[in-house]
Amino acid sequence: RFDKDYGQHILKNPGISDAIVEKAYLKPTDVVLEVGPGTGNITVRALEKAKKVIAVELDPRMGAEVTKRVQGTPLAKKLEVILGDVIKMPELPACDALISNTPYQISSPLIFKMLAMKNPPRVAVLMFQREFAKRLVAKPGDALYSRLSVNVNFWSTCKHIMKVGKQNFKPPPKVESDVVRIEPLVGAARPNIAFEEFDGLLRIVFNRKNKTLRAGFWQKEVLALCERNYKVYCSLNNIAIDETVDPTDKDVAMDTAMDVEMDVDDDDDEADPDAAQDKKNSGNGWIGGGGDDDDDDEDMPVFFKELGVVDDKDKTPSRNPKSRVAMIVRDKVEKVLTVTDLADKRARQCDQNDFLKLLLAFHEEGIHFS
Ligand code: SAM
Repeated sequence: RFDKDYGQHILKNPGISDAIVEKAYLKPTDVVLEVGPGTGNITVRALEKAKKVIAVELDPRMGAEVTKRVQGTPLAKKLEVILGDVIKMPELPACDALISNTPYQISSPLIFKMLAMKNPPRVAVLMFQREFAKRLVAKPGDALYSRLSVNVNFWSTCKHIMKVGKQNFKPPPKVESDVVRIEPLVGAARPNIAFEEFDGLLRIVFNRKNKTLRAGFWQKEVLALCERNYKVYCSLNNIAIDETVDPTDKDVAMDTAMDVEMDVDDDDDEADPDAAQDKKNSGNGWIGGGGDDDDDDEDMPVFFKELGVVDDKDKTPSRNPKSRVAMIVRDKVEKVLTVTDLADKRARQCDQNDFLKLLLAFHEEGIHFS
């Protein structure tokens, strides 16, 4: 009777439901958001401690179960059940605490949705599959370091709380789980930049985290995105845009000035794992969509060919004449990568300060990512 497509693995050990609620340190004035109440094992405990619980449940059968469970008790008036997909909600409901035995399909979109909130909850206590939980706390250089790890570390503090064996669930999942406690940074502690800007930059650099940042930015789609966003910036700031073709075609001169090292380990590079979940859940997939085998060499500067580095005919970049604005954007991208001294670093080695430095340097040049 439990639907695996909905990630329904019900907690059967009451000690773990207790611990999840306890670790949120709820106050009697708190509004709690619970994602996926299921039959209500965590919900009833939260209702006992908080002012109100908003429970968002995708499966109407489960919605009915949790409602029935508190019917006729004083807890009933504190419970609001919203039927639907939490990821499709334009924003998470305002709350002081978020708790969830998270359905594994929505792990990353749920975290991203919470971190993007202007007024995020004070605390989130969330159960995830172990590998996902490890990605949350991964550090630069770790195999599991990803866009998710950087965002979580940048916008919050995240602590591992406890391990939970699969025998604690009905039906047992295939893998072990972990509970983490996340405290989003709020007020003056929250970085004063737009979530979408920081995440937009991370999407580019983590699309292939083993490539140099220069190789990442020299992709056709990325340069096109930078150009589009730069034009928006120009029009908002009354800066004239020159769309005429540059007769001198500075490609060769500019490219030759670059000291580019070809990536040797492209083949075993991996796509951003969260981009795939984002796309599946919200239709907001972005460059590469996380799943496709990209062909980043497609738009490599022509001098790679001249240096004999790219000798595969099919990978020879086309030399379409570029507009002046396209050339300006290329110059700007190159300048930012050079002044930040990050051109030859790879996303897997960079920490959040490197990414912030990069973002601010792009902003100085009028290039934005959202
Ligand atoms: N909280 C219960 C417990 O711990 O026993 C059930 C947890 S179960 C792992 C996940 C619950 O999330 C299921 O009830 C499932 O129907 C619900 N669910 C799955 N996808 C969802 C979504 N996108 N939005 C809201 N609820 C969802």
